[in-house]
Amino acid sequence: MKPESYWLDTAPAFADSPGALPDDGRVDVCVVGGGYTGLAAAYWLARHGAKVTLVEAGGIASEASGRNGGHCNNGLSPGYASVVSAFGAERARAMYHDFEAAVTAVESLVREESIDCDFGRCGKLKMAVKPGHYDTLARYYEAMHRDVDPGMELIGPERVRQEIDTPEIFGALLQKTSAQLHPGRFGVGLAQAAQRRGARIFTNARVTGLDRLDGYAHRVTTTRGTLEAARVFLATGASQDGPWPWLRRRIVPVGSFMVATEPLPKDVIARLMPHRRNYVTSREIVNYFRITPDDRLLFGGRARFAMSTPKIDLESGGILRTTIARMFPTLADVRIDYCWGGLVDMTRDRLPRAGERDGLYYSMGYSGHGVQIAIRMGEVMADLLSGRPVASPWVGLEWPAIPGHFGKPWFLPLVGAYYRVKDAIE
Ligand SMILES: Cc1cc2nc3c(=O)[nH]c(=O)nc-3n(C[C@H](O)[C@H](O)[C@H](O)COP(=O)(O)OP(=O)(O)OC[C@H]3O[C@@H](n4cnc5c(N)ncnc54)[C@H](O)[C@@H]3O)c2cc1C
Repeated sequence: MKPESYWLDTAPAFADSPGALPDDGRVDVCVVGGGYTGLAAAYWLARHGAKVTLVEAGGIASEASGRNGGHCNNGLSPGYASVVSAFGAERARAMYHDFEAAVTAVESLVREESIDCDFGRCGKLKMAVKPGHYDTLARYYEAMHRDVDPGMELIGPERVRQEIDTPEIFGALLQKTSAQLHPGRFGVGLAQAAQRRGARIFTNARVTGLDRLDGYAHRVTTTRGTLEAARVFLATGASQDGPWPWLRRRIVPVGSFMVATEPLPKDVIARLMPHRRNYVTSREIVNYFRITPDDRLLFGGRARFAMSTPKIDLESGGILRTTIARMFPTLADVRIDYCWGGLVDMTRDRLPRAGERDGLYYSMGYSGHGVQIAIRMGEVMADLLSGRPVASPWVGLEWPAIPGHFGKPWFLPLVGAYYRVKDAIE
């Protein structure tokens, strides 16, 4: 078994831009972070004619963007009803539609730049794994079908086994416009498209210092050299590693873990998951899974509420394996070929945040729903950084610090215990 991301292991190599840091002269924008947010911003900034340099601490899409489930789903991370009660119906609708637009933004980029990443609109099946959960899904369906997604479908217990063959299902909600892709190939393809448009990209260039010059300008110190930028955009996801303490008090890095099985026989897939959708369970400690184009079951979840380390990734892989056997008894002895983990950039209300603070621009906090919204926010932030008008529900949204959080999420085991109890009794 390889202790690494299946997506990164099967992605093409990426070559840095020619030349070295520092660039000659001041750049218009320095983008920090080579995940989807930073790559999409660099791409759009270059398209708008800006001189842009992206610096990434590791490799392209080497963190969450290359370690995720490859679900490019519509729908918000928190329940729609809770967003309506927090923000009102009109803003909740705008937020929901923004995620839908984000899936379309990914599709357009893939098409326009011919990125070879198996993008396809497969639909997302939210599975009720207890009888009571189906009643909750039915209530969600009523509100969302009426307000935001007339195409969604509620599938009752009598029909749901045609969708997925597991004893752990009592009905489901189908969001038909959700998509899936190969995250590693998408990330590298996007980086290459940004380079073609004129962005300069440097990997293994960790930002260690930011010094304010005049106005919004900064001197950016990296492990590969220093550059000056008229504006700096932080697209650093869950990272706590950088000179930006303001963000550390607002983002909670939470581990999420994945395994990929050996390729499964086609007849087994046709029986278990004939439509090859994105599948998400209704528990608080959620599981998410799908079939890869080469027929592996890719199965993930927040198996433990902890950071991702090699030891915790392996332990979590063991928990995921047990869950696979419970949900799909025919796969009890399946071989696991890959096991890995990554960090999700959680906010307290599980909604994204973007804007500018003290001359630094930022967009993050996608809370496990980032494959699509990161791409949209890259485009939105490129507009903001270029002085164009923007209309985004996430830009400028209030973002207070999390009380008691100073960078190390000491409270994660408590949160995990709370959700485990909830899952056991509800
Ligand atoms: C296991 C897992 C499964 C997931 N599954 C899904 C899914 O199926 N669907 C979905 O929509 N979302 C999913 N997500 C979330 C999604 O992957 C992320 O929201 C999204 O990729 C975030 O992109 P990003 O560019 O903002 O951040 P990242 O991809 O984390 O990129 C941030 C980059 O910044 C770099 N960086 C950090 N600090 C510095 C520094 N000091 N100097 C230079 N560079 C720095 C990092 O190295 C990193 O590459 C999942 C996440 C994980 C971890």
